[in-house]
Amino acid sequence: MNLGEPPPRLSRVTTHALDDRYGRVATDLRVSLTDRCNLRCSYCMPAEGLDWLPTDEVLTDDEVVRLVGIGVRLLGIREVRFTGGEPLVRRGLVDIVRRCKEIDPTVDLSLTTNALGLARTAHALKAAGLDRVNVSLDTVRPETFLEITRRDRLHDVIAGLEAARDAGLVPVKINAVLLRGHNDEQAPELLRWSLDHGYELRFIEQMPLDAQHDWSREAMVTADEIFAHLEREFVLSPASEPRGSAPAEKFLVDGGPATVGVIASVTRPFCGDCDRVRLTADGQVRNCLFAREESDLRAALRGGASDDELAVRWVTAMRGKRAGHGIDDPTFLQPDRPMSAIGG
Ligand code: SF4
Repeated sequence: MNLGEPPPRLSRVTTHALDDRYGRVATDLRVSLTDRCNLRCSYCMPAEGLDWLPTDEVLTDDEVVRLVGIGVRLLGIREVRFTGGEPLVRRGLVDIVRRCKEIDPTVDLSLTTNALGLARTAHALKAAGLDRVNVSLDTVRPETFLEITRRDRLHDVIAGLEAARDAGLVPVKINAVLLRGHNDEQAPELLRWSLDHGYELRFIEQMPLDAQHDWSREAMVTADEIFAHLEREFVLSPASEPRGSAPAEKFLVDGGPATVGVIASVTRPFCGDCDRVRLTADGQVRNCLFAREESDLRAALRGGASDDELAVRWVTAMRGKRAGHGIDDPTFLQPDRPMSAIGG
């Protein structure tokens, strides 16, 4: 990539910020540990699944830990979130968490998961150093869960949520996507259930990252519609705490202290405050969810690059980060990789 700037130089094992041309600094690293998933959510992938990455293309546990270490020690990463696909299907997850925590115990480690299997692993993950979990859950009705995910596993998700709370992986956050005609009318019910169980619910506008390329602006349930659904049963008022680079706008429910979040990724983008960078399961740096280019750290790493050389490559990758996702721009192109292969 030639952006008319000389490549950044790092002296031996120097720290350097992952800044971009717009003054944003990435300190939040999303690490996808696998592109595989054990659900088949209709807004994410087709019923038959996808062509998964060949095993030899996926970073090994050692490679993941090394790259996270470079991010933390050399590049100012302060938060690491493990994603997928479904990260709980990665066999070495607990060990990866433990080794990443050992790099710097002050770095915040979290997991985005569908919670299948979390009932078995929550306590081990906590003991390994995991701080928090975000669980994807769009409904608390078994029949709607089956319809959306094509799997009859709601009971496992609920057990996983309870285990996360019992293990102290708090606050336990729930991320929900509303689909018109499927679960959008259930928004108040999901909020009531989350409040009753002590979980922090956030609704997320659906983004054009599905493998089937079925997303449409017209079909998407907007933040304004989410508010309208919730206000049938609740009074929402803006929470006073500043949002910072957090994607969710928080609202007090019935005067608080309980809150609900709305992540209006499409209709109220927050790209100007973005502090995120992504590492895919096959070792590609993506400076944005919607990046058209990737930087291949795996090839460099397997080719014998030093930590410094990998850090320089990573810093360079950030220089091409665009100002925003541009979903409303006529020239917008959906990325070739779906969400499950990018990491949420
Ligand atoms: S779309 Fe890209 S720039 Fe915008 S918030 Fe998401 S990752 Fe950041």
